[in-house]
Amino acid sequence: MQKIKLNCSGCGRIIESTNKAVKFTCPNCGEYEIWRCERCRKFSRSYRCAKCDFIGP
Ligand SMILES: [Zn+2]
Ligand SMILES: [Zn+2]
Repeated sequence: MQKIKLNCSGCGRIIESTNKAVKFTCPNCGEYEIWRCERCRKFSRSYRCAKCDFIGP
């Protein structure tokens, strides 16, 4: 398994386990990969795309 450094797009924390986080592409630009950690999923926190500044739930 590869070790990669990822930051949650919601809270900015480093995601250590990709098993509990979700990855999806930005629904606005479709280019940026957004990661959400377990906590942000749980509390439905908003995320921000670093590429187009799209903020979504
Ligand atoms: Zn988070
Ligand atoms: Zn975007």
